[in-house]
Amino acid sequence: MTHVWEIAFRELLCRSVRARLDAYLDGELLIETNLEILLHFRGCHECRHELECRAQLRRRLKAAVREHFAPAHLAARVRERLRDPPSRE
Ligand SMILES: [Zn+2]
Repeated sequence: MTHVWEIAFRELLCRSVRARLDAYLDGELLIETNLEILLHFRGCHECRHELECRAQLRRRLKAAVREHFAPAHLAARVRERLRDPPSRE
């Protein structure tokens, strides 16, 4: 039988893992923290699923950014503005 405190503890763990998922994907965590999260994934299907969703979203975003370059005239105008910003009086 699962005790209420066990469920509460598990929920707390999941919340802490999910709060660090983005940092985990960016490789910004300490090795110890990474290991802790990896161990959690082993026993938690929900967090593994959440990780896969976020990883997929990132892949889609990257692909979308790659497909949409700024048009040449816009890039030229931005460069122009940076060289010669409009005066504010
Ligand atoms: Zn979890």
